[in-house]
Amino acid sequence: MTDTPLSPGSTIGILGGGQLGRMLAMAAAELGLNCHIYCDEENAPAYEVAAYHTVGAYDDEAALRAFAQSVDVATLEFENVPAAAMAMVSKDAPVFPPPFAVEVSQDRLAEKRFAQELGIGVAPYREVKSLEELEAAVETLGRPGLLKTRRLGYDGKGQVKITDETDLAEAHELVGGVDALYERFIDFRCEVSVVAVRGQDGEMRFYDPSENRHENQILAETRIPARVPDEIVSNATDIARRIVEALDYRGVLCVELFYGGERAPAPLIVNEIAPRVHNSGHWTLDACAVSQFENHIRAVVGWPLGPCTRHANAVMKNLIGDDVKQWLELAREGNAGLHLYGKRHIRPGRKMGHITWLSAMNGEC
Ligand code: AMP
Repeated sequence: MTDTPLSPGSTIGILGGGQLGRMLAMAAAELGLNCHIYCDEENAPAYEVAAYHTVGAYDDEAALRAFAQSVDVATLEFENVPAAAMAMVSKDAPVFPPPFAVEVSQDRLAEKRFAQELGIGVAPYREVKSLEELEAAVETLGRPGLLKTRRLGYDGKGQVKITDETDLAEAHELVGGVDALYERFIDFRCEVSVVAVRGQDGEMRFYDPSENRHENQILAETRIPARVPDEIVSNATDIARRIVEALDYRGVLCVELFYGGERAPAPLIVNEIAPRVHNSGHWTLDACAVSQFENHIRAVVGWPLGPCTRHANAVMKNLIGDDVKQWLELAREGNAGLHLYGKRHIRPGRKMGHITWLSAMNGEC
């Protein structure tokens, strides 16, 4: 395929079955498209809203190939899909986003180098392959800082904060002694992210940058518009544009940035590139005519992109762990969209749903 837009009735394969896959499948269904979810869990949130699903390991070649042969195009909903699994699927189906984009985002070192090559600011860092290298990095960059594993980290997993009190040998052990980075702690004013989409024909569109607040390194709240100067809004969008173009990207991508304070090395620093729909773009479901999920689906099946303009200001709050027990009160909230992910078990730190409050664009949220 790739040139002819897929018709309604076609099937999109999605690697991963979490809430992002669930919301992608619902957006696809709105356009008359089917989804086939591939995930290694018995009960994944996306299964119940998709036409088909396969429970399979990400190294099960036979299952992956059968999955790929059953779909017209494939995509992913989490960036840690093993490269070999993507290669396997791409034997039988086109895969978007391009594997290179996924590889870059899977490795914090490759991600930082990629941003630096584009002239985009990153937190000062050093590669750490041993305790001696960690000691040298802390000596050079100072404390506080963060020791982050190169691979398989998300929502603060695989990271340790290094303060004046931290014993470096213990910290090195805590991240499992694997290849890592030591990164200077950035005293930022706020975190900002840009959700971008690039279509089959190379057209790019951008949702307004959002302001994000994390608690325990997990996204707690996203606010639109971000309370940053206009210049920062356009610079953040321009950074996302350069990244999406350089990756020859197709689909939705999110760039997470720190908006620096006086002590930050640059006004905007890229923290992470996520080659997928993103939690900080959930507000687009309620505040935009076409959400990040629908635009990702449109890009993947080769349809024209939808508008990224918003019709409201929004505050999105994640419902984490026990927060979801308030579902009835939240369902009574006026001018808010409630989204629950159908997860059967509540666990601390687990994303169970989200709610987005809307307000007039010329009023206060
Ligand atoms: P990450 O897993 O890299 O996305 O980090 C999760 C969260 O930890 C970020 O959203 C920040 O809130 C915080 N964080 C990560 N790196 C840094 C840093 N260099 N300086 C300050 N905070 C950070």
